[in-house]
Amino acid sequence: MNTPNIEIPTRAPSATATDDTVMPFEVAKLDLRGRVVRLGPVVDEILEKHAYPAPVAKLLGEAVVLTVMLGSALKIEGRFILQTQSDGPVRMLVVDFTAPGKVRACARFDKARVAAAIADNTADGSGLLGKGHFAMTIDQGPDTSRYQGLVALDGGTLEDAAHEYFHRSEQIPTRVRLAVAEELRAGEGGASHWRAGGIMLQFLPKSPERARVADLHPGDAPEGTAPHAVKEDEAWVEGRALVSTVEDLELIDPALSSERLVYRLFHEPGVRVFRASEIRAVCSCSRDNVEAMLKSFSQDDRDHMVENGRISVTCEFCSATYVFAPGEVGAKD
Ligand SMILES: [Zn+2]
Repeated sequence: MNTPNIEIPTRAPSATATDDTVMPFEVAKLDLRGRVVRLGPVVDEILEKHAYPAPVAKLLGEAVVLTVMLGSALKIEGRFILQTQSDGPVRMLVVDFTAPGKVRACARFDKARVAAAIADNTADGSGLLGKGHFAMTIDQGPDTSRYQGLVALDGGTLEDAAHEYFHRSEQIPTRVRLAVAEELRAGEGGASHWRAGGIMLQFLPKSPERARVADLHPGDAPEGTAPHAVKEDEAWVEGRALVSTVEDLELIDPALSSERLVYRLFHEPGVRVFRASEIRAVCSCSRDNVEAMLKSFSQDDRDHMVENGRISVTCEFCSATYVFAPGEVGAKD
């Protein structure tokens, strides 16, 4: 088959940084594809409302970037949910992405253990998570089956868990970088704002020969069986080396556009960018949903929720509070 001769216009990378976007890109010469996530007001709104201790907020911010990165790549209708459950000071992270661009997130943690980790200087991503598992769920509505991918959290970071997932489940060579930081702005009385960013790079060759990856280690193979090894493709070795040079600051710098970032990395082989999509911090909770949930509880449970003559429910994701008179939801005064 002849390759159609289509002229792809080339231009200089845009200097304008746009927050709260995901930009896909392609490095055709190296069979690489990827996306850059830049979050400003979205991640600031989510993390500010929760007012978690800073290391917990930072970790949740990383989970938000990763979820946006993966969820926006799925081209599905519906929800993509990333969830961790582990034995560290942060017991659970939940990030809920609804296509095409809504995100909400929350964490559950042990206050005393987080404070102890901060005091011990172990409150980084891996120290806060500990061991457990990392699950990704695709929910396309009540009449469809839910897909779930599960990998072990083994004392590593969220980046490690993402690499493990793509290696084991998808068998796609993948590198992910995530960064979150608080930015202090002059002139706002010392107010700080959260910023976050990330880049994902995947090796997706068109020819099956190049797509070969090593089989997973044969756990039940007879002793002495050599693990299957395939020499890594040079294009992937180059791509991975380039993406490992990305600094945290480059991922969150409001003055560096996503286009300039990928141009900085891949100007030699050449990089093509696609239209960026927008991300918004939106929660799906509503008074109607909360009312329906309360009505689904047993009479006894509803009666026990009455405090000072009313029932009050706070959304764990966005901290919105819904107040009901007991009679509204069939509870006794
Ligand atoms: Zn909510």
